[in-house]
Amino acid sequence: MNKSILIIGACGQIGTELTLKLRKINGGNAVIASDIHEGNDELMNSGPFEFINAMDFERILTIVHKYRINEIYLMAAMLSATGEKFPEKAWDLNMSSLFNVLNLAKSGLIKKVFWPSSIAVFGPTTPKENTPQETVMEPSTVYGISKQTGERWCEYYFNKFGVDVRSIRYPGIISWKANPGGGTTDYAIEIYHKALQNGNYKSFLSKDTKLPMLYIDDAIEATIKIMDAAPESIKIRSSYNLAGMSFTPDEVAEEIKQSIPEFTISYQPDFRQKIADSWPKSIDDFKAREDWDWKHNINLEKMTKIMLENLSLKYQEL
Ligand code: NAD
Repeated sequence: MNKSILIIGACGQIGTELTLKLRKINGGNAVIASDIHEGNDELMNSGPFEFINAMDFERILTIVHKYRINEIYLMAAMLSATGEKFPEKAWDLNMSSLFNVLNLAKSGLIKKVFWPSSIAVFGPTTPKENTPQETVMEPSTVYGISKQTGERWCEYYFNKFGVDVRSIRYPGIISWKANPGGGTTDYAIEIYHKALQNGNYKSFLSKDTKLPMLYIDDAIEATIKIMDAAPESIKIRSSYNLAGMSFTPDEVAEEIKQSIPEFTISYQPDFRQKIADSWPKSIDDFKAREDWDWKHNINLEKMTKIMLENLSLKYQEL
């Protein structure tokens, strides 16, 4: 069966690059991008785009019929920092969009679903170093609560209705093409922009706040890999731990200084510090490595080179 893929929330930080990569692999017309707003030129010019509100079941259904969609990647969500400002909205969006997609798959129209979870499913009582796949999970943000609940529903739909849903607990994702969408790890993107723009950065997380992170190329590769894996190799139907690197704001700053020696950083933690303090410092992703052969490629040093090179080209073009 030919793949016909719908990406909901395609114009965000991860959706943009996921759409472009899936179009490269499957052909532009096989990958339908959708969102509540248009994306960047590269995304809009490389294949079909439809406006879809992820909370509107009928609209999703119409587009699924129009393009005979058989796979959905649901990337629309309200993220951790924004979710704390609008808790009920975050809950409504994150849960209703997931139910819409799971129910379409339950009806048999959709054969495979990708839905991202997050390290936000963990909370202050979770072991912080090398956080295991299965452990205490008492998330303290509305975002984390919605992701943990979503994981339970994914597993339930798989067990009860045979829905082929696959999921990864993304750590903080670092990228340069699309802007980040209001997460607690966004500092690790802003810092590169500010280093090039003004040579200094005021971090909203403290110097020693260590968090798990992943460069976008690794995140996209993991996403495509788990979706391409044979169904029997996917042994976890809630969501897989996934890790690449872990670092602090101080460590990124030191790495940036290798290329921009005059770069300076100062610290003014805000409400996001508390969210970061409730999350793991590093993640044990043994299961993903064992079950579907996950491995990461990019460390802090490589990522810093890629970010500075690409962003300085972007700023030169402006
Ligand atoms: P983002 O905020 O950059 O993008 C989300 C996209 O969804 C946006 O383009 C937005 O316009 C769209 N959207 C919002 N409401 C919508 C609606 N009602 N209908 C349709 N589209 C809507 O987020 P992202 O960073 O690309 O994250 C994608 C997914 O990955 C989310 O589920 C997020 O929770 C998860 N995740 C991201 C990170 C990260 O560091 N970026 C980490 C862990 C998990």
